[in-house]
Amino acid sequence: MPANNKRYTNKKNVNKKPTFHKKEVKVVGEKIFIYKPDMNVAAVAEGLNISNAAMIKRLMQLGLMASINQVIDRDTIEVIALDEGYEVRDEVITDVTRFDEMQIVDDPNDMVKRPPIVTVMGHVDHGKTTLLDAIRKSRVVEGEAGGITQHIGAYQVIRNGEPITFIDTPGHAAFTEMRARGAKVTDIVVLVVAADDGVMPQTIEALDHAKAAKVPIIVAVNKMDKASANPERVMNELSEKGLIPEAWGGSTPFVNVSALKKQGLEELLDVIQLMSEIDEFKANPKRLAKGTVIEASLDKGRGAVATLIVETGTLRVGDYIVIGNTYGKIRTMQDDLKRRYQEAKPSQPIEITGLNEVPQAGDIFMAFTDEKVTRQIADERQSRQRDGELKSVKKASLDNMLGDLESSEKVLNIIIKGDVQGSIEALKNLLEKIDIDGFHVNVVRSTVGAITESDVTLANASNAVVIGFNVRPASSVKQAADAQGVEIRLYSIIYRVAEDIEAALKGMLQPTFEEIVTGQAEIRETFKVSKIGTIAGGYVTDGVIKRDALVRVLRDGIVVYEGKLQSLKRFKDDVKEVRTGFECGFSIENFNDIKIGDVVEASQMKEVEVD
Ligand code: GDP
Repeated sequence: MPANNKRYTNKKNVNKKPTFHKKEVKVVGEKIFIYKPDMNVAAVAEGLNISNAAMIKRLMQLGLMASINQVIDRDTIEVIALDEGYEVRDEVITDVTRFDEMQIVDDPNDMVKRPPIVTVMGHVDHGKTTLLDAIRKSRVVEGEAGGITQHIGAYQVIRNGEPITFIDTPGHAAFTEMRARGAKVTDIVVLVVAADDGVMPQTIEALDHAKAAKVPIIVAVNKMDKASANPERVMNELSEKGLIPEAWGGSTPFVNVSALKKQGLEELLDVIQLMSEIDEFKANPKRLAKGTVIEASLDKGRGAVATLIVETGTLRVGDYIVIGNTYGKIRTMQDDLKRRYQEAKPSQPIEITGLNEVPQAGDIFMAFTDEKVTRQIADERQSRQRDGELKSVKKASLDNMLGDLESSEKVLNIIIKGDVQGSIEALKNLLEKIDIDGFHVNVVRSTVGAITESDVTLANASNAVVIGFNVRPASSVKQAADAQGVEIRLYSIIYRVAEDIEAALKGMLQPTFEEIVTGQAEIRETFKVSKIGTIAGGYVTDGVIKRDALVRVLRDGIVVYEGKLQSLKRFKDDVKEVRTGFECGFSIENFNDIKIGDVVEASQMKEVEVD
């Protein structure tokens, strides 16, 4: 995030709506280059008033081979800008619609101590999950409510009256992804290393990420209960990587623990609290809240649900809130023990409901008091995102059409929609790695939720294929896609997507079997019949349902079950098929959880000729 002590703003970026602008300072008579994060070669060339070719030549002189769309780091830009006689200054954002990039300056008198936020990282199987579970359970000792916990992505433990926040999604992916999106939601990293296994590749990876984020590290040497535990080896190996144990005169605390036997946890928590006392993490609770989304999903009963960590300010039930490009009014707030809250303070993780759509992990949120302003800000951000998406994809397809040699990349644009953030991320990472003779995938949009008309519109505009992972389009969306010639492909197994995309990129996507959706029925009644199970009374809204169909049960656009029909009836008679506009009764093999309002989609596998 740019430093906030400069007073200049880039005129080009000034938003047209005057309501959100406090000031715009013009610079006259000086050559000033305004730096913004993620500037690519073309943007820098424009800012320096030189041609793209001249810019590329400059970069080559510095030993960098870059294409027009490549992002250039600030140091490199500064070297070239100075050469061109420009002074580089960071952009100062005063436009509240860009609150995620905006730095908040608080009165130091309002700043109070806030709990530390801790992320646990380390090599797979070294005990991250076990450690997080053990710490979570340890709070029962403090006399807090025990009971059933639910995973919301983060939790707090109270120790000696002071809370500590733990991010409950172990792994680097989440950490790095959030950092890449500008969110800084970790104060301390606990690096878990198994004492019987020592430093492994992901230990080093985690270490690199923590160092890059300049976050202090505590090493938890785990599995000390094992006979083969060798903590000295861990200390030696990490010393070589620059983490010198305190015991050896260095500055990194090493704590021996056994997550399994719950040993050493108290000491680990002590060290965390000691470290946070030294670092003095502070925030201002006397302002509207700003913070980050840790996890988000579409809940069958509650709609869009998101776990937020409040970075600064106080979040209250009833607050209007913009998250990423969506907005809402906070209806409920609860923690991982399902305790309800009216307000959440800095560093507090809280699961909220009341959002219009599902945001993405890593999205920044900000609370507002006025509904109209909130809606305007969300609209503005949405249209900006759409413009950005369109611009980036139009460029790609145009490049292809013109056969531009410089960027002769061949790109398959893809929109990913899925039921949970985790699988979307996994899918996105997998697809983005595919490269077949220079052909690759460009993920235009990847969000949690059902496939919507907005996805179809974007796909049409960007010539993209929509991938639905465990989500389905509603009939109206499917019709829109058909009308616009947009291809929607639906999957429930990640590697199948990768296989198909690879095949498509090789230009040989020839499925021998294709799934043809034949029709949909809406469930209007259900009956429990002993011995048989639940019988659903449905109305065929579209196409035809056949007795031997494969069926998917959709609830709010999410696939809740896939299987086969067990019976199909019209009144009391078994029938082979039921067409649009007729009522029918059926049961599904091994599935009795069907509910009123569910949509059942019937399909059939059809052989496709291979030439
Ligand atoms: P993660 O992949 O880092 O999240 O690792 P897990 O927490 O899933 O642990 C991997 C395996 O190590 C599991 O079988 C755990 O039971 C085991 N494990 C974790 N902590 C300890 C420990 O302190 N001692 C022993 N003996 N086993 C442990």
